[in-house]
Amino acid sequence: MGPLQIKELLQQTPDGQSVTLKGWVRTKRESKNAIFIALNDGSTIHNIQAVAAPGQFSAELLLTVTTGSCLKITGQLVASQGSGQAVEVKIDDIFVYGTADVDSYPLQPKRHSLEFLREIAHLRPRTNTFSAILRIRHALAFAVHKYYNDRGFFYLHTPIITASDAEGAGEMFRVTTLDLEKLPRTDEGAINFKEDFFGREANLTVSGQLEGELGAMALSKIYTFGPTFRAENSNTTRHLAEFWMIEPEMAFFELEDNMDLAEDFIKTVITYALENCKDDLAFLENRLAEEDKNKPQNERSIPLLEKLNFVVENAFERLTYTEAIDILLKSKPHKEKKFQYPVGWGIDLSSEHERYLVEKHFKKPVILTNYPREIKSFYMKLDDDGKTVRAMDVLFPGIGEIIGGSQREDNYEKLLERVHEVGIDPETIWWYLETRKFGTAPHSGFGLGFERLVLFVTGMGNIRDVIPFPRYPKSAEF
Ligand code: ATP
Ligand code: MN
Repeated sequence: MGPLQIKELLQQTPDGQSVTLKGWVRTKRESKNAIFIALNDGSTIHNIQAVAAPGQFSAELLLTVTTGSCLKITGQLVASQGSGQAVEVKIDDIFVYGTADVDSYPLQPKRHSLEFLREIAHLRPRTNTFSAILRIRHALAFAVHKYYNDRGFFYLHTPIITASDAEGAGEMFRVTTLDLEKLPRTDEGAINFKEDFFGREANLTVSGQLEGELGAMALSKIYTFGPTFRAENSNTTRHLAEFWMIEPEMAFFELEDNMDLAEDFIKTVITYALENCKDDLAFLENRLAEEDKNKPQNERSIPLLEKLNFVVENAFERLTYTEAIDILLKSKPHKEKKFQYPVGWGIDLSSEHERYLVEKHFKKPVILTNYPREIKSFYMKLDDDGKTVRAMDVLFPGIGEIIGGSQREDNYEKLLERVHEVGIDPETIWWYLETRKFGTAPHSGFGLGFERLVLFVTGMGNIRDVIPFPRYPKSAEF
């Protein structure tokens, strides 16, 4: 259906067959003997070259064929005269769908900074870099669904609007239909949310986990893959206000099974990208290498494909939080007081500590387990010592935390105790607690931030560049 894409045309054997091309002009070059138009329709990183003879078209028409204009070209597919491509199109006819004025179209063929491209997010998918990222993002999303479908997991749609703020994963965005100019008040003067749309306070979800657990306690293995929202004012290269999270939850999985799944999952989807996004990855690898040329030797990164293959081929290092603290206490930066934040049992590891473990000490992905209960969420299963919980964080080079997960507390009394301890009103999550009353079972799960995965696979440096239209503090254009 529809016209053949440029990706398909580039694979055809050329024998003068007539073809129709539809796409956007990347460049137009005129020489004495010919006019060359490089056309791209986003189906592949590669352009198709269309060639016309001088004088074949009026100067008036050719003036409208500029970078960014959209064309329909009919012609014949022939073996290419030049090097660099196998086929090209000998043009019979050009129809201009839409022009792109040279003086105002911002994507002229030259290098643009990523910061500038962020300001024109409506057009940046037309660049090589962003079209490659978006195709890889698609392939990874498809691989995620395939991974879980192939293994008997069910895709569970958890709500986007929630009334519980129990997860405590971050600041939430309020959802309301109340008139902000005329807020209804209770007798005590507080805002009367009984008059709000849902008759109570509501927010955008920060995680589908709690509802995901409900699904796992019926379907055994589920996963979610949906948008999550955090109003955290963190202007970092790793945080978005709106991001996509993949959250598998599995009945009858203990912490070990959870770690095995997390590791196998990441490796499998990266392998899928390596096998299905070769041209786009090669393009991004070159892009990085070009960028690195301006950096001193010791700051250059390992080539993208080498990095991805390394992760796929090597076992992740697994150790406990307590063991990690010991390594940090014995480390050079600690002894030389180079860490900004102090190290000691009980601290919430900061990113400099995580990066030391992953990038300097082990030089590979790390899974840290059994964190102190005080620094982790209420739903994580208590270890027998009562001091630590069965948590696991997967830490990646250059990214830091890519996965956070745990075995869940399945004992009703212990869970209730933790709920009280952290100050959650049990009434607000009565339904969550009931799963521990009715047919409870050991179960586990984790959350993978999809954009952090895309960040790693594309080798990009800023999470704002791996989602089509990023949301972050003071930015919700497009
Ligand atoms: P961090 O410490 O990096 O803020 P977190 O502990 O808040 O992460 P979780 O609540 O465990 O993260 O969420 C699960 C996963 O979601 C994380 O491992 C990460 O991959 C991703 N994630 C968390 N916050 C964000 C964000 N603001 N933007 C993009 N991805 C995020
Ligand atoms: Mn966070």
